[in-house]
Amino acid sequence: MNLSNESAPETRATVLVVEDEAHLAAGLKLNLELEGYRAVHARTIREAASQLVEAPAIDLILLDVMLPDGDGYSFCQQLRDSGHYIPVIMLTARSAAEERVRGLDSGADDYLAKPFALPELLARVRSALRRRHWQKPATAAESALGTLSFGNARIDFDTHEAIAFNKPVRLTQLELDLLFYFAQNPRRVLTREELLEKVWKLHNAPNTRSVDNFIVRLRKYFEPHPDKPVHFLSHRGSGYKFVPDGKAAP
Ligand code: CA
Repeated sequence: MNLSNESAPETRATVLVVEDEAHLAAGLKLNLELEGYRAVHARTIREAASQLVEAPAIDLILLDVMLPDGDGYSFCQQLRDSGHYIPVIMLTARSAAEERVRGLDSGADDYLAKPFALPELLARVRSALRRRHWQKPATAAESALGTLSFGNARIDFDTHEAIAFNKPVRLTQLELDLLFYFAQNPRRVLTREELLEKVWKLHNAPNTRSVDNFIVRLRKYFEPHPDKPVHFLSHRGSGYKFVPDGKAAP
């Protein structure tokens, strides 16, 4: 699949590589360019921040964790806090579960532990860019899943605009992805494992509170009474169920 660069819009995307190891950065840049992407490089968080200002057309960030002027987690968190929804793949030298979870909790969309295999990196780049594309339906026919309405909420997956109780809600990419997955699977119990695999792309994930933390946030945004949810229901500790029209009164 994806052999032709002309037919795949995501292969013309611009990728910002934030990496201070010169050899690794050069290798990444070269291989991305060979795949047909445009690649720009930043050695520090400071350089990355100015690249984002100077080249606003950046479609994806590959973000190293240990950088000379700070760590990738805080930079990612800053991006999300300031409303940047660019997909971020963290490149971490640490494969410990809590470090991966920390990356995802900071708003990253994916992570890759060093040393990684190039084909896997490229696959994850394609995947992150594809997910960005399915949130921007190209035609009216494809836009059936473009918006989600339930209770007092309306979410537009195309523009990333969400309204709840007549007020705008700012959602991160992962919150949108999670909502999108719920919207595709209404009234079905989704286990934490399934959500971690389908939404976070984490396989054989460790026991993590990540999913629960995200559910807490969704309830806070969209439930009339977050402590008595009617849309995002817990299911006997195993997972969650999304009920668009609300749980029936007992
Ligand atoms: Ca580094």
